[in-house]
Amino acid sequence: MKKIMRVAIIILTLAALLISVSACQRRAAAGSGGFTVEEGVLVMVTNAEFPPYEFWDGGRIVGIDAEIADAIANKLGLRLRIDDIDFNAILPAVTSGRADMGMAGMTVTEERKQSVNFSTSYATGVQVIIVRDGSPITNADDLSAEGANFNIGVQEATTGDLYTTWDLEDEGLATIHRFRRGADAVQALVTGRVDCVVIDNEPAKAFVAMNRGLRILDTEFAVENYAIAFALENTALRDAVDGALRDLIADGTVQRIIDKYIKVD
Ligand code: GLN
Repeated sequence: MKKIMRVAIIILTLAALLISVSACQRRAAAGSGGFTVEEGVLVMVTNAEFPPYEFWDGGRIVGIDAEIADAIANKLGLRLRIDDIDFNAILPAVTSGRADMGMAGMTVTEERKQSVNFSTSYATGVQVIIVRDGSPITNADDLSAEGANFNIGVQEATTGDLYTTWDLEDEGLATIHRFRRGADAVQALVTGRVDCVVIDNEPAKAFVAMNRGLRILDTEFAVENYAIAFALENTALRDAVDGALRDLIADGTVQRIIDKYIKVD
């Protein structure tokens, strides 16, 4: 009996040793402290329907977020892998540990901070309103006017969805139509299924440029900060990525990447 106990203790000690060695290897993979879900690889999830932050160009996902993430991975000695998933699946992928980070023109909000940690913010976004030419909607206040009850298109689970739901639909002032992609919401506007679309300003510009008869109102629905999201417990990786991101902001790399995709007119 004693012998069995001794053997069991030895096996358990060996197993514990093996587990901690492999954890160390995983941690070492990210160089400056963090560990990644796949050794040596920084797995980023995004929704590549959000130009100019992330979009498909031929067989590649490109854009501001893709390039910043690539520069971060380089600094940390990691290889970048970008997985394209639905926007509303990004935070679950991060919190469940299937991905290392979510980067998708993702706005920092108090609600999201309950489930993820954010990096330093690297860009600003503005929620704008797209309408058809000649629309009776001329500013943000028109949406909340008594009895207006407009049909508003948004991309599901984005801040455009959350704000219009809380401020307008929950108050009985409008009907919100949720689409899987921003481009689908814009298509619904073109065909008249919705009266306007509330969405981030840069994709709004891209979608308006692709479609005739649309314009962006000169009114801000909300101003917000974009940042990278991490699982709450993975502070080592968050700190490593954040350090690299701060360096890239300080040396002008982030601004150069933004300027490459966003031309000031
Ligand atoms: N900035 C918005 C949000 O975080 C939209 C992001 C997106 O559609 N990729 O909800």
